[in-house]
Amino acid sequence: MAEDRLPEKRRKRLEEFVAQLRVKPGSHVHLGRDFDPGFKAGVSKKKDGVALLQEGIALMCEYQARLAAQSTWGVLVVLQALDAAGKDGTIRHVMSGVNPQGVTVNGFKVPSAEELGHDYLWRYAQRLPARGQIGIFNRSYYEEVLVVRVHPENLDRQKLPGASKKGAVWKRRYREINDWERYLTDNGFRIVKLFLNLSREQQRVRFLRRIDLPDHNWKFSTADVREREHWDAYQRAFSDALTHTSTEWAPWYVIPADHKWFERVAVGMVLAQTLLEIDPGYPKVTKQQREALLEVRQALEAQAPEGVAADPFRDGQHDGKAPVETTA
Ligand code: AMP
Ligand code: MG
Repeated sequence: MAEDRLPEKRRKRLEEFVAQLRVKPGSHVHLGRDFDPGFKAGVSKKKDGVALLQEGIALMCEYQARLAAQSTWGVLVVLQALDAAGKDGTIRHVMSGVNPQGVTVNGFKVPSAEELGHDYLWRYAQRLPARGQIGIFNRSYYEEVLVVRVHPENLDRQKLPGASKKGAVWKRRYREINDWERYLTDNGFRIVKLFLNLSREQQRVRFLRRIDLPDHNWKFSTADVREREHWDAYQRAFSDALTHTSTEWAPWYVIPADHKWFERVAVGMVLAQTLLEIDPGYPKVTKQQREALLEVRQALEAQAPEGVAADPFRDGQHDGKAPVETTA
């Protein structure tokens, strides 16, 4: 398969690009200090970014096809962000061109009564991707240590026994999440966690845009402004979650989100790099399977009508495209 591998130089460039965004496992994150939402990783022009995104998308398409064919690995993409950071647009742009049959997208909102009747990971476990699939979580089980932490009344609704609500609830949840992710990873599911890091000022501007452009009104709710008032609490909750749940097996990536075009480039690169690391291959047929195929070919060739190539794809007689239909 070596010939269709990415050239060493491009592979290295991709690796280095992505490494800058990764939260080093074990590091202590303070979002405001450590990560700049306006970072562009040296890509100064949007034009260059668009070209990079196209490259990333092309890689993803190719590797996603192999992932599906091999059906051994699955990929879970966790997308977390504050309002207006661009989760929906990112999914739309970055996944454009990828075979829709290989991708599932699930959004998570306020849990239903049925969901609250189960343990907190239950509803997410039901939506995990299958082997061969890329599953995107638009919000995820991380809300259980984010919105639930910022608004503790959510925890009260979870019908937990007394002991589970006492003490170091969040530390315990980080451990539980890390364990769960490790279990999934050990069983063939790669987890890619993306935090779209938007500045407070850009959020203000994007909210105004949603109000001022009538076509965007539907995207805005006054609840979003109420959440904005908890900005600092969210920054703390995100910093803490990134600190405790960026692991060797499931690291976090902080995606600078103030420039939408750059955010999409960065997400595309991280996903491409993940698929490259998995390096899925098309399943090889065994000698016996190959022999069986050759027998079937012989039978099909024998059925060719007069004057027609017995097998238009055989021995370089054809360019691989289907024969042109002729109308009588
Ligand atoms: P949106 O994604 O903008 O449509 O909004 C979904 C809403 O559901 C957000 O306000 C989230 O904070 C909320 N939400 C998502 N997951 C949870 C959860 N586990 N507990 C409570 N609220 C949640
Ligand atoms: Mg919203």
